[in-house]
Amino acid sequence: CGIVGVTGNENAVAMLMEGLRRLEYRGYDSAGIYVNDQNGHDFLVKEKGRVADLANALTPEVQGTTGIAHTRWATHGQPSIENAHPQISADDRFYLVHNGVIENYLELKNKYLADVEFKSETDTEVVVQLIDYFVLHDNLTTLEAFRKVLYLVGDSAYGFLLMDREQPNTLFVAKNKSPLLVGVGNGFNVVCSDAIAMLNYTHDFIEMQDGEIMILTPDKVDIEDEEGHHITRLPFHVNMDA
Ligand code: GLU
Repeated sequence: CGIVGVTGNENAVAMLMEGLRRLEYRGYDSAGIYVNDQNGHDFLVKEKGRVADLANALTPEVQGTTGIAHTRWATHGQPSIENAHPQISADDRFYLVHNGVIENYLELKNKYLADVEFKSETDTEVVVQLIDYFVLHDNLTTLEAFRKVLYLVGDSAYGFLLMDREQPNTLFVAKNKSPLLVGVGNGFNVVCSDAIAMLNYTHDFIEMQDGEIMILTPDKVDIEDEEGHHITRLPFHVNMDA
């Protein structure tokens, strides 16, 4: 339902939590956060209920520079900690938050993932397990696997934010029929499903189009079209106070 991401900022946890609070108006039943500190430490915390409940579950050691967070409005699987996002791959390598619905998730699960043990009932977990599957079995890079899975889910509705523990300062972003904006900062970059979530941290946003993939690192926003060609798009300035 609500999505936020940050790469390259010491205060990633505070920024993500503030972003979730600002998206609360959209309604949700659970929330979660994953952060990585680029020094081999990472944290996944999920809670049922309010963003305040998630905030209470965060111990002081939960810190990082890059991370993703989500408020969930359940469509597949009841509201629970297991079904909250980020959803993770079986080997704990990939972390994914998702807005929307994957129409053909059962078909994809039966075709490719019959041997994988699932921890949730969500359509989203199928996507993150598939990315892991194509990286491990077909030797694809994370970006190639992400692109392949976007092709496989067809015209399903999604906003996706993906992290790979082996590239811990990179956010992989894609959307279809669901809004996502990238915010450009000085030495950091952010993503959000509504600019209001990140207006405290930047006023410069790049609008994302369906079918594109954006690859965010602390100093760079790479945009690629469906065929993998690079696109240049300048940010626009939002004249609005936080
Ligand atoms: N379909 C996903 C789920 O049920 C995402 C729901 C949402 O947009 O929050 O977990």
